[in-house]
Amino acid sequence: TITVTQLSSWVRIYAELINEHTEELTQLDSAIGDADHGTNMQRGTAAVLAAIDANPADDAAALLKTAGMALVSKVGGASGPLYGTFFIRAAASAGAVTELSSHDFAKLLHAGLEGVVARGKPEPGDKTMFDALAPAVEAVDDALDDGASLSDALAAAVTAANAGRDATIPMLARKGRASYLGERSVGHQDPGATSAALLITAAARAFG
Ligand code: ADP
Ligand code: MG
Ligand code: MG
Repeated sequence: TITVTQLSSWVRIYAELINEHTEELTQLDSAIGDADHGTNMQRGTAAVLAAIDANPADDAAALLKTAGMALVSKVGGASGPLYGTFFIRAAASAGAVTELSSHDFAKLLHAGLEGVVARGKPEPGDKTMFDALAPAVEAVDDALDDGASLSDALAAAVTAANAGRDATIPMLARKGRASYLGERSVGHQDPGATSAALLITAAARAFG
């Protein structure tokens, strides 16, 4: 099972990973965007930590909703509302509980992914965060269906997210700023897919 404390570790570890990768994310965004993805995510995750410290949550929904609202309100770029919606939908899926089963966590990931889809309308292969998140969500399902532990399921999800991130390199961007570049977006790794893979890595470290 996953406790509320572990869920808050997930977002704390995510914030740490974003801090470690800020320059890389901005570098990637400078090639096919406006060079702010690292700073957007750094500002956003710092706001999440400030919000959860200011309003300590005693259930999963409260924690995830606080995180999502902070991202929506503090990140100006496309990624803020997208990640924010991920967490807000995840909150609704989790509910006001103090413990989540592996199955609950898999469901929460699905709900978050559906939020990203509702918000940004990404399709597979559009070269977005969806291309890292969706394979990870599917990998968790497949592994749990096969009777794997949460830890093994998340290890598989990290592999899938990283492969999904790498697979964005040859894609032609069809959503967001990178789509303005058309063919010139080909050959570059998507910044949002890169930060999305870190979100999955953070989950593996927090619950693994
Ligand atoms: P902005 O493009 O507004 O500067 P960011 O640089 O923070 O915002 O985030 C860019 C990332 O957001 C992209 O790399 C991509 O993964 C993701 N993104 C942009 N538009 C969409 C969309 N419609 N659906 C899903 N993801 C998107
Ligand atoms: Mg940008
Ligand atoms: Mg921007």
